[in-house]
Amino acid sequence: MRITKVDYIIVGQGLAGSWLAIEMARRGIPYVVINEDKAATSSKKAAGIYNPITGRKMVKTWRADLLFPKLEHQYRELEETTGSNFLHPIPIYRPFRTIEDQNDWDGKLADESHKKFVNSIYTKPKGLSNVRDDLGGIMINQSGYVDIPVMLEAVQNYLVNKGHYNSEVFDYERMEIDTDFVTYNNYRAKRVIFCEGSLSDNPFWDLPFKPVRGEIIDIVCDLKSDCIINQGVFMIPKGDRFTVGSTYDHQNLTFEPQEVGIKSLEERLRKLYSGKYEIIDKRAGVRPATHDRKPYIGIHQKFKTLGIFNGFGTKGVSLTPHFAKHFVDVLQGKSEIDEEVNVQRVI
Ligand SMILES: Cc1cc2nc3c(=O)[nH]c(=O)nc-3n(C[C@H](O)[C@H](O)[C@H](O)COP(=O)(O)OP(=O)(O)OC[C@H]3O[C@@H](n4cnc5c(N)ncnc54)[C@H](O)[C@@H]3O)c2cc1C
Repeated sequence: MRITKVDYIIVGQGLAGSWLAIEMARRGIPYVVINEDKAATSSKKAAGIYNPITGRKMVKTWRADLLFPKLEHQYRELEETTGSNFLHPIPIYRPFRTIEDQNDWDGKLADESHKKFVNSIYTKPKGLSNVRDDLGGIMINQSGYVDIPVMLEAVQNYLVNKGHYNSEVFDYERMEIDTDFVTYNNYRAKRVIFCEGSLSDNPFWDLPFKPVRGEIIDIVCDLKSDCIINQGVFMIPKGDRFTVGSTYDHQNLTFEPQEVGIKSLEERLRKLYSGKYEIIDKRAGVRPATHDRKPYIGIHQKFKTLGIFNGFGTKGVSLTPHFAKHFVDVLQGKSEIDEEVNVQRVI
């Protein structure tokens, strides 16, 4: 059997594996991707939103100042590389729940580091038909969504054209681990990097993942909006429909939408939008979330030829481009690993 030497075998081509492969390609590092191309993956079910101001308390998301100024540029570059279109920059309108929320934002706007993420503040309803925003709301910028299935297909075509893609399940038992290299089928690699997302049964990593199931629905209704609306649920305008999500459940980790999830989504949708709607699609996925909501990145403690790039939780879109670059810097010895994401913190 003819052996092909590569520096890296990347296992998995969701958001994580895609960005890692692209980063390696750009730096001329020899790699190959091995991916089971199945429908039930986190990336294929995700809403794809990137949003610098999140949570009930509407605070800047972790590392927002570092990630967001370059994020859209990174996706635009990937669109150019792959000749596809999947980035949809669009503001996010977040109705205020209380007068305190409103006052709070008056204060936060004095602070430059928040101001850059705010497009405008509405102190009266914005005028979106049947949307409950009696107290107005905040319009967030540097936000939008990525059509992840389109992006994954574009990256996969790019990898196939370069001859760097294998569509198969990676079988751990066929891996021969040496001190300086790993042999897998006809490949010899300096390292294997696992980007397998949630619910992986990889025997080499026993990590405190906290996977979270989420439901999403598509609806048709009379509402017209030029922004994502986000209060309790998000409503992403997509031509003739809105994508509405999502739920968070640590139980019943399945890719089948659950009635309880759909019900909870509809209850929250009703609080935001009082118009008529029809559900035209339902889906669910499991997010690869972690014990401290930070990714697991780095090298195995015992097997130095194995690495991991996983645990992007609810924020794969905004975290993976930056951390792919960072991890490749680390692998090339150009940088020390960011301790907050270092997998060594849990092993
Ligand atoms: C309902 C829902 C809504 C979400 N909304 C958002 C959002 O709005 N914004 C956001 O940023 N994030 C969102 N996310 C989270 C986001 O989807 C994840 O952070 C991201 O997709 C994780 O990507 P990944 O590449 O790590 O995993 P995955 O997408 O699961 O990819 C893993 C890949 O590895 C392959 N694989 C696994 N094991 C093997 C093996 N042994 N051999 C070969 N291949 C293998 C799988 O088939 C898959 O292709 C959402 C997730 C869900 C479920």
